[in-house]
Amino acid sequence: MTLRREESVSIPESDLEGVSVDTLAVRAGQIRTEQLEHGDPIFPTSSFVYGSAAQAAARFSGDEPGNIYSRFTNPTVQAFEARIAAMEGGERAVATGSGMAAILSTCMALLQSGDHIVCSRGVFGTTNVLFQKYLARFGVDTTFVSLTDMAEWQGAVRPETRMIFIETPSNPLCEVADMTALKALAVSADAYFVVDNCFCTPVLQRPFEFGADIIIHSATKYLDGQGRCVGGVVVGSNQLMEEVYGFMRSAGPSLSPFNAWIFLKGLETLPIRMRAHCENALELAQWLKQQPGITQVFYSGLTDHPQHELAARQQTGFGGVLSFTVAGGKAAAWAFIDATRMISITANLGDVKTTITHPGTTTHGRLSPEDKELAGITDSLVRISVGIESLEDIKQDLRRGLAVLSV
Ligand SMILES: *Cc1c(COP(=O)(O)O)cnc(C)c1O
Repeated sequence: MTLRREESVSIPESDLEGVSVDTLAVRAGQIRTEQLEHGDPIFPTSSFVYGSAAQAAARFSGDEPGNIYSRFTNPTVQAFEARIAAMEGGERAVATGSGMAAILSTCMALLQSGDHIVCSRGVFGTTNVLFQKYLARFGVDTTFVSLTDMAEWQGAVRPETRMIFIETPSNPLCEVADMTALKALAVSADAYFVVDNCFCTPVLQRPFEFGADIIIHSATKYLDGQGRCVGGVVVGSNQLMEEVYGFMRSAGPSLSPFNAWIFLKGLETLPIRMRAHCENALELAQWLKQQPGITQVFYSGLTDHPQHELAARQQTGFGGVLSFTVAGGKAAAWAFIDATRMISITANLGDVKTTITHPGTTTHGRLSPEDKELAGITDSLVRISVGIESLEDIKQDLRRGLAVLSV
């Protein structure tokens, strides 16, 4: 007799073949204990026990699959890994304690001394610090180039180049990289093509379809989306993820089962949240463009954005982050931010709550003046991560900012 699905502890993946990313967000990777709970169980345990000394030996030798210790594997963490891997369309995922741990684990697993990275300028500030300050100490050099200038990318590749690393769209100017062109460059250089897909999530952009070898997420942002915890994940082929897993297991930047459970819950609502973020952001960008005192709006959903067509080709939505410049420089930008009452002043992004920040003195404050200029981070730039509050209420709060601009 075949079991009804509800009577089975392991849920067959074949049941989800061909379903949409919206369904995978809710169903993929789900696990059950013998209690047949409908929600996802948490396994808050550091280690696992065995039926016998022989079984313990078989687990350690790898002859028998199964859990040993939660630095290596934990069922709740594995459920999160399986869900995000399915959503991205990758073979396997390795979860980490933060987005930075995901980036570090990828580099440590796949690069060695003497290797070279070409990275887009204006990546997440700490990624910049990790590459420039720490990886450099271990003989891995990085060249930073414009995300959108293919000639610069081509000129930066050396025989030792082993990794092409991008974030697309970029933060905070919403520039969009041509992933197909960068994949071709990575293939000709025999380098890994790594995409930090934090801003779009698999709901809006699936970089494997454009040739990415590895996708990285800070789960802290949209995957959780509700400001609860820090985490990260790397997705790729079984072969590459075995290397990343090996580093993660040895170095220990593991994700806790509690945080993995929160990310599982976050993923369930990710598709509807992303659509709400996109809808609010597009309308807000169009509205901001018409306001006196706003000199420029950066959002790839605007038809006059230089990579609007490319964004429309690569993404199914334009995302929830936008930025704009105000007349009057840093003092005006700060006054605008300080005049808001509801919107959170924080450098975090990807949250259901709208957030506002001055990139030049926060997220990108550590860049040298020259690097800031190259990255387009001016003193008058303000970034908003548009939340899912009522658009009218977000506008109402921003009107307080507009009112203090002298125009
Ligand atoms: C926040 C962020 C990271 C780093 O993630 P943490 O979870 O803060 O370690 C990496 N990349 C991007 C694009 C980010 O926004």
